[in-house]
Amino acid sequence: MGRVGATARPSAPQHALEHLDVVVIGAGISGIGAGRYLATDLPGTSFAILEARGASGGTWDLFRYPGVRSDSDLSTFGYDFKPWLDDQAIADAARILRYVREAATENGLDEKIRYHQRVVAMAWSSETARWTLTVERTDDQHDTDHSPGQERERFQLTAGWVFAGTGYYRYDAGYTPELPGLDSFARTPGNAVVHPQHWPADLDVTGRRVVVVGSGATAITIVPAIAEQAAHVTMLQRTPTYVMPVSRGDALAARLRRVFGDERGAALTRRKNIAKQRAVWRFCRQHPTAARALYRRVVTRQLPEGYDVAKHFDPAVRPVGPAPVRHPGRRLLRRPPQRPRVGGDRQDRQLRRHRGAAGQW
Ligand SMILES: Cc1cc2nc3c(=O)[nH]c(=O)nc-3n(C[C@H](O)[C@H](O)[C@H](O)COP(=O)(O)OP(=O)(O)OC[C@H]3O[C@@H](n4cnc5c(N)ncnc54)[C@H](O)[C@@H]3O)c2cc1C
Repeated sequence: MGRVGATARPSAPQHALEHLDVVVIGAGISGIGAGRYLATDLPGTSFAILEARGASGGTWDLFRYPGVRSDSDLSTFGYDFKPWLDDQAIADAARILRYVREAATENGLDEKIRYHQRVVAMAWSSETARWTLTVERTDDQHDTDHSPGQERERFQLTAGWVFAGTGYYRYDAGYTPELPGLDSFARTPGNAVVHPQHWPADLDVTGRRVVVVGSGATAITIVPAIAEQAAHVTMLQRTPTYVMPVSRGDALAARLRRVFGDERGAALTRRKNIAKQRAVWRFCRQHPTAARALYRRVVTRQLPEGYDVAKHFDPAVRPVGPAPVRHPGRRLLRRPPQRPRVGGDRQDRQLRRHRGAAGQW
């Protein structure tokens, strides 16, 4: 542990406060990346990484649902300064977490991270050209949340710069839309409602009938991961998204590393993947009709004959802007033993027909 900030109530006098050149908030992939650049490019800068939880890694430590993985390839999602050398280009959470923690250790950041310190307020003073941060100590049991009514110790410190590597979602409560009837469903004996951000470690879906609400990246990860244990899985979607099957590995990356060595090979892979993503984005933007047709052709080829692709895989929006949902694997939807289904009754009937005809899915 590094130096611990002076303990004081928010009203404590300024001179009692610890001052750092930079405070980084969050020890996820962003905060650790920022720490590394501070340590190497600005030696002599005093800084600390304040982390609300008791563990580093952010997203990659928090999410525990079955199959949790990245959507991006790690050659571009990972750090420029630390080549991604794993065979999984689209990697599971455990590998990403290991990578992020290795980056922290290799760059001497472990002692810079101050765990269980949540920044709850910041105030800028033009007079002193400093930020004053109010920090609350969290405890071991409650990694992320506030227990109602519980008073936590607070103190302040000052900083010249603040880097917020806090991510983009609430850690204590994942977004849950208003779904009328959900409470009474959950209260019915034998039922369970689970949010992927708070996946119970002991949840066993063996033999259960499951509905996954949504069809974004999380749902697309969970469905195949639980299909083998569950009696039946239904993915329920409001609106279709673009889905493109991609390979989880990267054969060319492995070859580049063999030929050019780890560092050079990984750097070339990063450039290759950035160029590829740019080209796809540009193509989608300049030729949305052709891009849509291409997506559709790929998806149709993966699905049973006669499948209602237009209804379930053809979004109303053009294929530009945010990245499409990727599904790593050779087939868009592999043949799981328990056959997950997408959509409602009509489609279910169609799927049953296709299973009979094509012998799959
Ligand atoms: C399952 C999943 C897969 C994803 N896959 C991809 C992908 O492939 N590509 C992609 O680009 N993005 C992906 N994302 C988004 C992903 O979260 C980010 O890209 C990336 O991990 C964010 O890193 P981060 O360090 O900015 O934030 P986070 O990983 O969210 O880490 C933020 C850290 O800050 C801490 N913190 C927050 N607020 C405070 C505070 N007030 N005080 C102190 N500490 C605080 C948190 O405890 C946490 O440790 C994915 C997200 C999920 C959930």
